[in-house]
Amino acid sequence: MKQIPPVDLTRQHQVISLEIEAKVLEILRSGKYIGGATVTDFETQFAKYIGTDYCVASNSGTDALYMALRALDIGEGDEVITTPFTFIATSEVIVRVGAKPVFVDIDADTFNLDLAKIPAAITEKTKAIIPVHLFGQPVDMNQLMAIANKYNLYVIEDCAQATGATWNNQKVGSIGHVGCFSFFPTKNLGGCGDGGALTTNDATVANKIKLLREHGLVREAGTKVTYRHDLTGLNSRLDALQAAILSIKLQYLDTWNQQRQEAASYYQQLLENVTDIKLPSALSGGVNVWNQYTIRVKDSPEGTEFARDTLRHKLQQQGIISMIYYPLPLHLQPVYQHLNYQRGTLPIVEQAAEEVLSLPIFPGITLEEQQQVAYCLKDLFLTSEGVWGSYKSRSLSVG
Ligand SMILES: *Cc1c(COP(=O)(O)O)cnc(C)c1O
Repeated sequence: MKQIPPVDLTRQHQVISLEIEAKVLEILRSGKYIGGATVTDFETQFAKYIGTDYCVASNSGTDALYMALRALDIGEGDEVITTPFTFIATSEVIVRVGAKPVFVDIDADTFNLDLAKIPAAITEKTKAIIPVHLFGQPVDMNQLMAIANKYNLYVIEDCAQATGATWNNQKVGSIGHVGCFSFFPTKNLGGCGDGGALTTNDATVANKIKLLREHGLVREAGTKVTYRHDLTGLNSRLDALQAAILSIKLQYLDTWNQQRQEAASYYQQLLENVTDIKLPSALSGGVNVWNQYTIRVKDSPEGTEFARDTLRHKLQQQGIISMIYYPLPLHLQPVYQHLNYQRGTLPIVEQAAEEVLSLPIFPGITLEEQQQVAYCLKDLFLTSEGVWGSYKSRSLSVG
């Protein structure tokens, strides 16, 4: 049986393999592997694409977030508001700079921070908000910036899953004080390894990030190594091979994002009559770039196992691999036990974690594959006996 994977990167590569492979050979033969024009060219192109004055490339999205906090002097004694429904890197960096993550519940429809709940979480220690444009869906940045400006807070956008998404015709990553991107291979713009970038319009912040990225090392006249170190930094450069690959892929990003959008609307069309699942919604005002297509499946009447998990297992038996992003909200993670969040304190995200299921979506997914996914979902919901029969009879409507 031919499997339908959650993501297939080889299809993307096939389209550009000659271009990429020639460029990789060229870099290998050049002997210039770290820094240089390949990296600065990519930074220039990426800043232009996002619409900011500056871009500083890094070796991961995690380091980008870490350096953003450091560049804004956020640390010991500070609080940073963020979402409990994201990859752990978002809150991990808050802890790593010595600050305290404060989790605010999410919106049930968008899976993003519930902006209305932010003001109640702000204290005199709050320094910043890190919104995550989760699954490619942009946060309502007008509303978020209004809150941030009112309370004088920094906004660091976690754009790891939303490269190319826009709010109000502005690219995410150009609206807050700093934008952080990941080029992990499965992201909308993914390299062939790890990579990341920060975007900002603030020259001081950009310069500080450049210092941090390279051991706090001061370079005179742009490039000369002085061995004078002004800050305790890290080593977080994007290497030339990745920069070269990303420069090529950046030219295809809009096409690939469009393919994701087409795939999302096809799912919408195929699945709209299945009443037992809730399809993802896109906010008007923004452009979603669909890093994930995440449905919600209501809990089963038996209560022994989540209906979502049963469904996932049955799909797997048909060769369809779905994913759970994320099974445990961050406020309930063992690593944050000391923050003393109890189950029940952030009910919307806790329920979402039990119901979400991300279906295969990626540039190059075929109509036949999507039909197969939809066919299996419908079949399981409409004709099965047992759990699914009684499940069906409850005629659930979510949201
Ligand atoms: C992938 C991801 C990160 C981390 O990026 P890396 O490049 O893997 O370090 C951070 N935040 C979110 C929301 C992500 O999805």
